[in-house]
Amino acid sequence: MPELPEVENLRRYLISEAVPGLSVVSVDVAAARTIRTPSVEDFVLGLSGRRVVEIGRRAKYIDVALDRGHLVLHMGMTGSLRVSSGDDEPLRFAHTLFHLDDGRRIELNDPRKWASVWLVDRFEDALPNIGPEPLDMSFTPEEFAQRVSRRRSPIKAVLLDQAVIAGVGNIYADEALLRAGISPSRRAHRISEQRLSRLLDEIRNSLARAINYIGDNPLDDGRPFVVDAFDDRMQILRKPGSVCPQCGAVLKTKVIGGRTAYFCGGCQGGCCGRDARNTQFSALHLWDDWAPDDCLVPFRARGDNRRGDVEQLLKVLDVVSGAVGQQIGV
Ligand SMILES: [Zn+2]
Repeated sequence: MPELPEVENLRRYLISEAVPGLSVVSVDVAAARTIRTPSVEDFVLGLSGRRVVEIGRRAKYIDVALDRGHLVLHMGMTGSLRVSSGDDEPLRFAHTLFHLDDGRRIELNDPRKWASVWLVDRFEDALPNIGPEPLDMSFTPEEFAQRVSRRRSPIKAVLLDQAVIAGVGNIYADEALLRAGISPSRRAHRISEQRLSRLLDEIRNSLARAINYIGDNPLDDGRPFVVDAFDDRMQILRKPGSVCPQCGAVLKTKVIGGRTAYFCGGCQGGCCGRDARNTQFSALHLWDDWAPDDCLVPFRARGDNRRGDVEQLLKVLDVVSGAVGQQIGV
């Protein structure tokens, strides 16, 4: 599925193909259900003659700002865009063609026909209720923490909720959680502000890395490729037996909110001892990266810890140096 990094590259692709400044001469619509608003007839009539002023993006929505109104594009599960010359054969699933006044056209190619297109007065009119843009640097760690901490669901499910933060897909949520050292099933309200701040950094790193990678590796005709969840170019290989890119341990999986999370029991579970099967490794991990106030407080506050949890934590602490032991007051 095209995620935020692909959509951002589609936006850049349209700009690099010098689409801004051109006008739409006519539109061919072969899949009527793609046109969300207005009716197909009004869409074709309303768009014809309009000039593209600039091309923006919000979450996974492309905003083609026109001299009057906005053409909004969402790629759905399988949609993609190609700018082609009039001589080119349209792609096999190019159900919607936007003919431009320089003789080229923008093809919306979509095998499953789940892409959506709107022609609206204001860009916002096409958008659902979505949270702040993760790459917008005016979105502060404090605001992120405030939005996330209200929720008691597992953090992975919270990140995928577009109303909390926009455009963080399954792949990038897993990558960011791994790099931030947070278990995907950790309850959102139990995570400290300090650790959430790091999580926001890692979400940005993960998305930025993917945007650059996709931009640096276009298809032969210049279009951005769409990463799929099994792409071995991703940081977490989503296949049975794949290993943690940080420590080499075999990744675990768990279904959270209907989506499969890939995570590392060592790098992401060690702090509370619950997933620390390999205590030696967990100790090293804690030594490098442990924020005691983040970790012990929720451990104590639960009050209903099973004895096994406590014993496992003590085992982990046993191999950590005495200095750390003193620091956390054990
Ligand atoms: Zn690991």
